[in-house]
Amino acid sequence: MDQKNIRNFCIIAHIDHGKSTLADRILELTDTVEKREMKDQILDSMDLERERGITIKLNAVQLVYHAKDGQDYLFHLIDTPGHVDFTYEVSRSLAACDGAILVVDAAQGVQAQTLANVYLALENDLEILPVLNKVDLPSAQPEVVKKEIEDLIGLDCSEAVEISAKSGLNVDKVLEEIVHKLPSPKGDKDAPTQALVFDSFYDSYRGIIAFVSVKNGTIKPKDKIRFMATGAEYEVTEVGVRTPKEVVEDQLNCGDVGWVSAAIKNIEDVRVGDTITVASNPASEPLSGYREMHPMVYCGLYPVDNARYDDLKEALSKLKLNDAALHFEPETSQALGFGFRCGFLGLLHMDVVEERLEREYNLSLIATSPSVIYHVYKTDGIMEEIDNPSALPEPQKVDHIEEPYVKCDIMVPKEYVGPMMDLCQKKRGEYVDLQVLDDVRMMMVYQMPLSEIIYDFFDKMKSCTKGYASFDYEFSGYRTSSLVKMDILLNGQIVDALSTIVFRDFAYNRGNAMAVKLKDLIPKQQFEIPVQAAIGGKIIARTNIKALRKNVLAKCYGGDISRKKKLLEKQKEGKKRMKMVGSVEIPQEAFMAVLSMD
Ligand code: GDP
Ligand code: MG
Repeated sequence: MDQKNIRNFCIIAHIDHGKSTLADRILELTDTVEKREMKDQILDSMDLERERGITIKLNAVQLVYHAKDGQDYLFHLIDTPGHVDFTYEVSRSLAACDGAILVVDAAQGVQAQTLANVYLALENDLEILPVLNKVDLPSAQPEVVKKEIEDLIGLDCSEAVEISAKSGLNVDKVLEEIVHKLPSPKGDKDAPTQALVFDSFYDSYRGIIAFVSVKNGTIKPKDKIRFMATGAEYEVTEVGVRTPKEVVEDQLNCGDVGWVSAAIKNIEDVRVGDTITVASNPASEPLSGYREMHPMVYCGLYPVDNARYDDLKEALSKLKLNDAALHFEPETSQALGFGFRCGFLGLLHMDVVEERLEREYNLSLIATSPSVIYHVYKTDGIMEEIDNPSALPEPQKVDHIEEPYVKCDIMVPKEYVGPMMDLCQKKRGEYVDLQVLDDVRMMMVYQMPLSEIIYDFFDKMKSCTKGYASFDYEFSGYRTSSLVKMDILLNGQIVDALSTIVFRDFAYNRGNAMAVKLKDLIPKQQFEIPVQAAIGGKIIARTNIKALRKNVLAKCYGGDISRKKKLLEKQKEGKKRMKMVGSVEIPQEAFMAVLSMD
């Protein structure tokens, strides 16, 4: 297809404003997916996405649109996630496109992630096409929201299409707008090849598959390609696109968004953000790529069965191909054995990675309490970055500790400003600003410790604003705080994987709450187990887990074997996510107890 008839765009929006539903309608209207194969949010192809109803991965599809001017246009559409934890997926999608459809829920208006995603799109020089969605809702106020978009974002909305992605109303108009208002790719098909790798995954038959946006030149089978950052070279076996089914093509042309397969087995060779060129006529420079993402939250991941350490290692390497924001390195815990310290963009990301490892790689894992990265300044003048509380040096060796702060933008209806301020205060937030956005909403700006945000801030915010607030944050620097390490002792032994770093003034409360919680979470054993919280060797809280009296099997009176078997199996099932630490069995939930402490 002629390059001027190609349009590469992504759909961006705040979570739940209807990106994936709009993608569904576009696929339907262009007959890309047959009616009988159509299902809601079809691009959310991972089981996990379907169950949770959220988009986690970017998803690129090619489709052909027969426009009203009689010409055919080739669209590459990328659906993106909306949650802050997956912003990296969005920024990579944007770099593969020339334009973006900005979907705004006409009942909810501009939200925190609407703004965040628009800024990302502007950074990438994309043409932005605003679309008002959900106009079928009785509470929709498209005119009000258009004005909001103009005032807050500065986008002209006089021609913004009002749609219902659910019913399909006016979606045909959006397709015409894409043709007329979004630019075609600018590259040169005769120039040396430059293709941006924006995603990849591991296929056990074909090796690593790279998703690319071809910015210049072409890629075809038998080409010897070179990954410019790593220098690795491979001969292309197949190229193709997704529609969303995988389709093999003769070649990928300048302006195409598709996949490249080259029997790549070495995981290190493929990096998201790298540029592929063709070795016989190489480009002189790589494309600009992406900013590296720095993890915000760390936790340890350990196989329940120690023998599966190598499997976990392999699984992490493979998953990283498909999740460029994931970081990991080996770590050992006295309590849990060999595992990995893993870095994530947030708790939802952590949760998703753990679940993908369990489902896609059939592992059973224990995750330790999440932690941010602390800057620990020691009395010897050296600063250590600590992402694992148990690695904190002795108190007498520590001069002071700094923790990461984030600047939070919170958009909230006026009537909830009070409760929201209380919450921010309770989370050690420092007031920065309060602005009137429009008749109903305010924008609150706070500086807050990241550690307070990652725990239960979202849930708390939801409940104190009835779900009407939205929230975005960005790293703003390190600040000195009065922090201490809190250890947990079970049966008199420190369990390193349960140690946390807490704000000194919160320590007693948290210690108590933790001891009570663990008492409820850790199953009874044949003997009594003391649970203690301690700071620097001093016990600050204590509870007891009472000894088990009855043998579970005693209830079966020895007679009914199958029932006995079932019971044992049930116990085994329950044991899956338990780890034996000394003589005490600790369930997964105990390590996450710290997340819901007050
Ligand atoms: P995403 O998070 O932006 O991808 O949003 P989804 O496409 O998953 O949609 C979120 C929810 O809004 C789903 O329950 C959709 O059915 C619903 N939704 C999407 N578009 C419309 C619309 O035009 N009207 C109404 N009433 N609901 C919609
Ligand atoms: Mg979605």
